[in-house]
Amino acid sequence: MNYALVTGGSRGIGRAVCVKLAQMGYHVIVNYVSNDAEAEKTLELIKEAGSEGELLKFDVSNAEATLAAIEGWQEAHEGEFIEVVVNNAGIRKDNLLLWMEAEDWNRVLGIGLHGFYNVTRPLLQPMLVKKRGRIVNMASVSGLKGLPGQCNYSAAKGGMIAATKALAQEVGRKGVTVNAVAPGFIRTDMVEGLDEKALKGSIPLNRFGEPEEVAELVGFLVSDKAAYITGECISINGGLY
Ligand code: NAP
Repeated sequence: MNYALVTGGSRGIGRAVCVKLAQMGYHVIVNYVSNDAEAEKTLELIKEAGSEGELLKFDVSNAEATLAAIEGWQEAHEGEFIEVVVNNAGIRKDNLLLWMEAEDWNRVLGIGLHGFYNVTRPLLQPMLVKKRGRIVNMASVSGLKGLPGQCNYSAAKGGMIAATKALAQEVGRKGVTVNAVAPGFIRTDMVEGLDEKALKGSIPLNRFGEPEEVAELVGFLVSDKAAYITGECISINGGLY
């Protein structure tokens, strides 16, 4: 059995990635933090795609809870390992830095950046031992160029892109690739409330993207066809920079 873990897999881009990985034959471990009904729906879609999956609920920003959940899974699956991890969980809490509360700074960094560390570190050793692994980190155009009102989010995503490049150099010799994906505006709950009509004028392809379009890119990076790509951050943004 080939196992893949997707953080924030209950909704949006994470759900579409779960379905794509299921179509590719992975047993998909769906992480999420609170939304049981949506997570169950993702699990149904995984089964409809002809594969198997399971839910693994934990807050990626909570180091102890994350380690306990991952070690619990590993103890229950002796001799097996998670060969694909998609660090997708993320939130935004936008405000000008002048007005930004420490809580909103810490929460966005806690989930977006520390979550990457909490989830990835305990999964690394088995990948290195088996000499096989794929790590895909969900960044953002905000982490590449910086966006006003998103100092916290830009910092989390920019940090994730830098960590992607550093880790790729640490583990490349062991057959593990590490890449980031940087979406622009993708139609999910996260962009609810944004004025698509007004914003799409700034996007050369003149529309928001769909979660499934991002999932196709993640699927490619996970596949054998992408075996020589590592340390990259690939934009998927309709031409918006
Ligand atoms: P979304 O629809 O808001 O879904 C967020 C997902 O993250 C949900 O599954 C949620 O679980 C999970 N999550 C939130 N906090 C978590 C935590 N502490 N621990 C574990 N899971 C947690 O978001 P999305 O638009 O699909 O975004 C997915 C990723 O793409 C994020 O990293 C986001 O920054 C990035 N991104 C999105 C866009 C965009 O335009 N949508 C653009 C660039 C980058 P629950 O269902 O349990 O709440």
